Formats: sequence, C-alpha cells, structure tokens
Amino acid sequence: MHKKGMISRVYSQILSTVQDQASLHSRAQWSPDVGEFAGDVWDAALESVLGNFSFSLHKLSQLFILHRAYRTPVQLYRWGRLESPDCSICRVQQGNFIHMLWRCPSYIDIGMRFFNLFC
Ligand SMILES: [Zn+2]
Repeated sequence: MHKKGMISRVYSQILSTVQDQASLHSRAQWSPDVGEFAGDVWDAALESVLGNFSFSLHKLSQLFILHRAYRTPVQLYRWGRLESPDCSICRVQQGNFIHMLWRCPSYIDIGMRFFNLFC
C-alpha cells in the first residue's frame, strides 16, 4: 500500500512535469506571431477551451489550435512531405499556421460564402 501511494505520487509528478514542458513549448510557438503569453493568460485560454465546449470534438479542435498541433504546409515541406510550402488553398503565400487559420484570403472567402449560405 505504501509503495502504491509512492508510485502514484512519482507518476503524478512526472506527468505534471511533462504537461508543464508541453505547455511551455506550445506557448513559445506563439511568440513570433503574437508575442509572449503570460502564464495566467495561457491558463485562462486553456480553461476556456476545456470549460466552454461541451462537444469533445470541438474541445479537441480548440486544443489542437491552442497547442498549434495542426500540421501546416510549411512544416510538411520542411519534413519533406510536400514539394512546396505554399498554402494549399490560395497557393499564393506560404502556408504557415497563422495564414492557414486566419489570413488565407481564399479560405476567408470560402468561410464567408458558407456563413452567408447558412446564417
Ligand atoms: Zn492561403
């Protein structure tokens, strides 16, 4: 019984350290685009995602965005998986994370058409 409690505490400590390192890595990835996230801002963003979306797929999608886990054409190009780093939608600019999620003019156009069609 004593060993089980000790193993659980060690496991919890290791898991906490890994989660902290993953959060630091994710936060650092945002720095070139939006500046540095303060720890409380990051925690609030994480809580918002986990608390505001009742549907698991939406939570997962938002967590992927927050942790920048979506693979972009720029990353896939660096890894030798694509022949070009260009955006796969507009094919005009490089497909980095910010472009693919917010700045692609073709994607915005498609989104607006969808919005006008259904809203
Ligand atoms: Zn684009």
